[in-house]
Amino acid sequence: MIPFDFEYYKPISMQMAVDMFQSLQKQGKKPMYYAGGTEIITWARTNSISPGAVIDLKSIPECNVMGIQRDKLILGACVTLSALSAANPFPLLSETAQGAADQTARNKITLGGNICGRIYYREAVLPLLLTNSHMVIAGIHGTRETSIHNVFSQQMRLANGEFLVQILTDRDYLSLPFVHYKKRQIGNVGYPLVTVAALKKDNQIHTAYSGACSFPFRSIEIDQALNDTSVPLAVRIERAIDNIPAPILQNTEGSASYRKFVLQQTIADTVSILERR
Ligand SMILES: Cc1cc2nc3c(=O)[nH]c(=O)nc-3n(C[C@H](O)[C@H](O)[C@H](O)COP(=O)(O)OP(=O)(O)OC[C@H]3O[C@@H](n4cnc5c(N)ncnc54)[C@H](O)[C@@H]3O)c2cc1C
Repeated sequence: MIPFDFEYYKPISMQMAVDMFQSLQKQGKKPMYYAGGTEIITWARTNSISPGAVIDLKSIPECNVMGIQRDKLILGACVTLSALSAANPFPLLSETAQGAADQTARNKITLGGNICGRIYYREAVLPLLLTNSHMVIAGIHGTRETSIHNVFSQQMRLANGEFLVQILTDRDYLSLPFVHYKKRQIGNVGYPLVTVAALKKDNQIHTAYSGACSFPFRSIEIDQALNDTSVPLAVRIERAIDNIPAPILQNTEGSASYRKFVLQQTIADTVSILERR
């Protein structure tokens, strides 16, 4: 049960959503954008958040687009993870999406909600970091398009009242050789010990990680270490791990030392497979 009352709004255009946010904020209602609601409901039940109003983005047409236009894959922020996997326009993203939660939850969880959420893992962002995707963002000054690297650093960095509308990915990336591993403590459902998504472009391996530390990331230094074939693979992996941008995560899913061990094995498998492709 959610232990407080809140107002619910469902705008049908980007402008309406942005205007509602501004107006509700002026009234002191601490509005939040709402997509699948899985994280908002979880936090609200435990009183970790208490918005006075939520603005459901799912009736905004631009947020529900999924298709190729002018050599780019366009994915609306409100496309669910299960719809994404079923349509499969981007196999690495489909596989990553399929690794999150179970089918029932994936029917609700949206691509935008996963990327903009606060829970550490945000696994759907990994393929988007690897493909230098672009984000379309709506705010009081209209919409803007920018590289994911300008707005996603550990987490989405949106200005007050902005929301994610779409993600654009160059078509050339969609069919590159890829590897995706999700290692859990136990079973097939649940948050990761380590998730590695990787692809190979122009004979170089590019990798991105979730679960290794308290935020998902891609690191140029790690990729440089892994692509340095002048040294043995074990050395490349050790150098890669030295470049993880924050302390290795330690929580109920696993200790830092166990995570490091799993990460070493997973990187070894990733590099071995992609070097043969
Ligand atoms: C049982 C279960 C298991 C899970 N396992 C995993 C897992 O292993 N790996 C993983 O990565 N995820 C996992 N998740 C999903 C994750 O924890 C979040 O619950 C989910 O990603 C939130 O998506 P949502 O669409 O429901 O977002 P919501 O709950 O609607 O919103 C989440 C946050 O994002 C903001 N937001 C939503 N959409 C937008 C937008 N378009 N623009 C700006 N801000 C926005 C909201 O304001 C809110 O702060 C799991 C979820 C469940 C329920």
